[in-house]
Amino acid sequence: MNPSSPYPAASRVRHALDAAREELAGHLDARPEEIVFTSGATEAANLVLGHFARQREQTLLIGATEHPCIRESAQSGVAKVDILPVQPQPDGRIAPLKLAERLRAKPRPALVAIMAANNETGTENDVEAIARVCREAQVPFLCDAVQWIGKRPLGALRHADGLLGSAHKFGGPKGVGFARLGAALGDLRGARGGQQEGGRRGGTENYPGIAAMVAALRSAQATVEDAQAIATREAWRSRFLERVRGLGFGVAGSEAANLWNTVLLLPPLGERMRWVMRLAKRGFAVSTGSACSTGRESASAVLQALGIPDATARRAIRISSGRESSESDWQALADAIECILADLSAEDAPATVVRI
Ligand code: PLP
Repeated sequence: MNPSSPYPAASRVRHALDAAREELAGHLDARPEEIVFTSGATEAANLVLGHFARQREQTLLIGATEHPCIRESAQSGVAKVDILPVQPQPDGRIAPLKLAERLRAKPRPALVAIMAANNETGTENDVEAIARVCREAQVPFLCDAVQWIGKRPLGALRHADGLLGSAHKFGGPKGVGFARLGAALGDLRGARGGQQEGGRRGGTENYPGIAAMVAALRSAQATVEDAQAIATREAWRSRFLERVRGLGFGVAGSEAANLWNTVLLLPPLGERMRWVMRLAKRGFAVSTGSACSTGRESASAVLQALGIPDATARRAIRISSGRESSESDWQALADAIECILADLSAEDAPATVVRI
């Protein structure tokens, strides 16, 4: 049923779509008119940054560890793109003071885009402080909150002028997401060809996907708002890190502010695909660096931005847990890593020369 059709049965879908929009807006402390449903965060990033990128003689300021959908949309037009560095490893965060300094310099950007949490390392930015700095400088702030939503409280995102979210990162279906567009971003238009989404995104809305996305957010929020449940997950991750660090592994990203479900491990030896394959044999699905760039040979741009040496960055493996993962899953993973490390050390040891 198409929510835009005129027959009475379609109005049921239209009302259900309105209800989903209101519920999502309620979670985000936004007005329903600020929500634009999209096919995911990539489309939402294209909608916002594509608009700004088309403006001549403007500068867009983006964080050094942004997802390619932000970086490439920003670079898709004629606007100039400036990159704001992150603090080097072991921090990996945008320093709000450095941002404030940059916003006092010329040219003043037309838009700042900084993510809430990084998809490779899980490192979290201080979104509230960044929003404050942008507001004081009167520069609109777009926040890619894809990794944050469903893992951390949504209140921290309230003061960003624009937000991007993707259902599949908080337990919903793939191929559906949204942008929250505050008034400071101006009058934006994404896909053309229909008047859906207040004329800002043409194309029939994916109502089943949207309903599932909002239900997934409702369910994820129950865990996020349970401080004890989150503290327990953080403790599992910390114990895992203590163990692997003891085996000689490095960990990329912030020690102080990191999502409880993400770890970017830097193994002391072994090529990354050997780790991926051996962990897969033991039942663990892990990625190399960013899943989006799997197959490319270079070290990830995020790890380069953190100042991690190329040879180490090329070994990086990324682990993500789910809400359903347990302490024994983390322990079993540490056991598997310990066994694989022992095997790889034995295989890579120089052959013993036997005199006869
Ligand atoms: N931003 C971040 C931080 C992501 O991790 C992802 C996807 O993994 C995206 C944007 C793109 O989201 P989507 O797959 O909905 O286009």
